[in-house]
Amino acid sequence: MDKIKIKIIKLGKQSHEYLFKRLEKYNSKIFKCEIYKMNRPKCDYEWGYKFETLEKLLSEKSEKNKFDMCIGFVDTVIEKNYFGKRLDKDNNIYVISFYEIDCILKDKHIDLFNYMITTMYRYITRYKLQITGNDLVHDETRGCIFDMCGDKRDVVYFCQKPIICDECRNKINNHVHSEKYMIMLDRELASIKPILFDRIINFIKSHSKISLVIGIISTIILDLISSKIYDVFFNHK
Ligand SMILES: [Zn+2]
Repeated sequence: MDKIKIKIIKLGKQSHEYLFKRLEKYNSKIFKCEIYKMNRPKCDYEWGYKFETLEKLLSEKSEKNKFDMCIGFVDTVIEKNYFGKRLDKDNNIYVISFYEIDCILKDKHIDLFNYMITTMYRYITRYKLQITGNDLVHDETRGCIFDMCGDKRDVVYFCQKPIICDECRNKINNHVHSEKYMIMLDRELASIKPILFDRIINFIKSHSKISLVIGIISTIILDLISSKIYDVFFNHK
């Protein structure tokens, strides 16, 4: 399968520049991307943008002859306070906003890169299988990459451990040529995990007694080691 070519456009200054550096190094068998940036125009929806404005901006720069898809990233609010949106009927142009999501995930110690990459897989799958309308998206929150997340706080679930729920999987299986793609998608979604430091915090939170015992044992062992070192090197009586 040829990799899907994605043009990534950073719309205006990004507070999370490091994410794009990680995206550049990200290894996927499904897609490859090139990252560009463009200045943001005057806001036309609160301190952000309407879908129509975003579609116009990104369409002009999408280079359809060179790229299969174009995904714009923005820090500001977008219309209806959505976290992301397909902007054109051809399934080629999308926008993803970090607005509020960064704080929601920070509170839960979840890696913001998980949001970036999982949301991209959501749109890549839509493009790849040419899914029209809202066929796959569901109101119920299941930790599925096609959760609607009308309440933005629900993105926490698909950013922790993204899955494709049974209902979506059944629908996807009806699309031609989906089998090979789904094997790759499952493999790449399975590699998305909270970063190690956050996993340790989550472990301590959910296993406080075990963590306390581990802490006490570690302290005793360190004490024994340090007194042994003292005896060997400094105590010559
Ligand atoms: Zn689903």
